Amino acid sequence: MRFTSRWLTWLCLSLMLWTAVAESTHNHPNKTESASCSICAVAHSTTPTATSNQVRPVFAAIGLLQEEEVIAKARLSVFDLGIRGPPAI
Ligand SMILES: [Zn+2]
Repeated sequence: MRFTSRWLTWLCLSLMLWTAVAESTHNHPNKTESASCSICAVAHSTTPTATSNQVRPVFAAIGLLQEEEVIAKARLSVFDLGIRGPPAI
C-alpha cells in the first residue's frame, strides 16, 4: 500500500471518529440555538413512516373446478412394435 493512500485512509478514519464524537457530545446553552442546529433537528425528528396508495385486494370466486375423468387411449398395440409372439405348441 502506498504511503499516500495509507495516510488518506487514516485521515478519513480520524475525521469520521472526531465527527461522531463532536455530534454526540455537543450541547447548546439555550433552546433557540438547538432549534437552529441541524444535528439536533435530525436527532429529534421522527422516522418517516411508509405509506402506500395501493388498493386492497378483492377476493371473489369466479367459478368452481369440475373434475372430469381422463382415460388415456393407447395408440400402439404390442404387435405394432414388431415383436414376435410366443411360438404355438
Ligand atoms: Zn445541536
